[in-house]
Amino acid sequence: PEKPHYFWQTVMTAPEQELLCIFGTGDFGRSLGQRLLQTGYRVVYGSRRPHSCGPLPQGAQVMSHEAAAQSAGVIFLCVHRENYDFLETLVTQLKGKVLVDVSNNLKKNVYPEANAEYLQRLIPGAHVVKAFNTLSAWSLQNGPSDASRQVYLCGNSAEAKQQVVETATKLGFNVLDRGTLSAARELEDFPLQLFPEWRLPLRLAFGLTAFFFFYLLIRDVVYTYVEQDKDISFRIMVSLANKVFPIVSLIMLSLCYLPGVVAAFLQLYRGTKYKRFPDWLDRWMLCRKQLGLLALGFASLHVLYTLIIPIRYYVRFRIAESTISKIKENQTSVFDTTMAWRVDSYYAMGILGFGLYLLLGISSLPSVSNALSWREFSFIQSKLGYLTLFFCTFHTYLYGWDKFLRPSYYKWYTPPGYMLCLVVPSVVMALKLVILLPCVDRSLTRIRRGWERTDPEGDSKKSLLT
Ligand code: NAP
Repeated sequence: PEKPHYFWQTVMTAPEQELLCIFGTGDFGRSLGQRLLQTGYRVVYGSRRPHSCGPLPQGAQVMSHEAAAQSAGVIFLCVHRENYDFLETLVTQLKGKVLVDVSNNLKKNVYPEANAEYLQRLIPGAHVVKAFNTLSAWSLQNGPSDASRQVYLCGNSAEAKQQVVETATKLGFNVLDRGTLSAARELEDFPLQLFPEWRLPLRLAFGLTAFFFFYLLIRDVVYTYVEQDKDISFRIMVSLANKVFPIVSLIMLSLCYLPGVVAAFLQLYRGTKYKRFPDWLDRWMLCRKQLGLLALGFASLHVLYTLIIPIRYYVRFRIAESTISKIKENQTSVFDTTMAWRVDSYYAMGILGFGLYLLLGISSLPSVSNALSWREFSFIQSKLGYLTLFFCTFHTYLYGWDKFLRPSYYKWYTPPGYMLCLVVPSVVMALKLVILLPCVDRSLTRIRRGWERTDPEGDSKKSLLT
């Protein structure tokens, strides 16, 4: 008859938990050790001072580097690269071991080779795997959250990588294999990145803001001071800012759509989609989301600045002054219906434009865009995007109204800022209209489906070559 099976028997015969070694009892080593222990691994630390190192996670052992290295097959090296030389004395103990390099540097390109490659050169007998360096000690200790669920790794030995993958997966991370150790530099550069895709849009926003600020400062404040001997410098804080923000916003929004139009014309001109776009166009296309989000930021500032107009001292003073003077002189003003239409349409366009602007911004958030199908995303970003551009441009044209043709508005022969800022959006919309013409649209669609216009010159060259 079959023997009864008791729970304690299972406990007694369960295989021993795997032992992992960590060199270095600093912040990262301690956090990693704690997570490993929580996941069920046994942990042994290798330290310079096994008897006097700081507090360690409960249940961990600590011993000399030699003894610790001998006891485990996988060693996490939680020591800064500058201190790797002590490993040279452990070459025999580390032979055949999996050595996980978690190190980062303070700056890019400080050393000629990646830390992990240097480690592999230092201990050629070990299997070096670069991993975990994109996590912080803090996030390791708190367990993976959405933002830090990813662990990148690379290494030359597939078996060694597999062991690290298993451990990282047990710790709750998603692992992304980036290939051989030659990818280590790329992984080490990850944590040192400083908003790479934001750089160009931020520079552009800064440049445009500075240009229009000084342009309007000269046209408004300096001009009034020189020509009318009046000091209106107080307007810098609100009026001038509230002119600069919408101008920069509209230009940046149109710059989101300009590269798409340029790319379409380039494809039409070349008669194929199989030729690479120039680098500048590629880079421009890749930062459209950031351009759009910055444009939304400027538009939001414009909205906030506009909301405070009625409570400004200057505005309240002017309204009161004009009312009082009309009462004194017993004057009445006539209601201007055209003006009412113009101002209401101007505000309506602005509000509709801003509402769609917000929708574009929200749909560019990864959590939202990931939930949309490609067609939904392109409907919002392209169709509604052009509608946003149209509303905002029309809002600005309504602001200008009949001032475009009045010479008195061209102070010192310069056009007002809002006229200048209409150039790019008007060009983008005109070009887009050309693309929407049925004959142009048909050719472009064919090219984008793979059709190529044969180039007789290219063909004859090809036949000569063959
Ligand atoms: P840390 O707090 O300064 O700890 C480093 C440990 O290295 C020390 O506690 C010490 O442990 C050991 N050590 C120091 N000098 C040594 C020497 N001359 N020879 C041998 N061992 C020495 O640094 P950490 O923040 O834990 O960072 C450790 C590694 O993890 C670094 O490579 C870092 O780039 C990487 N990293 C850290 C983080 C983070 O959030 N902290 C994130 C990603 C990657 P013993 O006294 O026990 O020997």
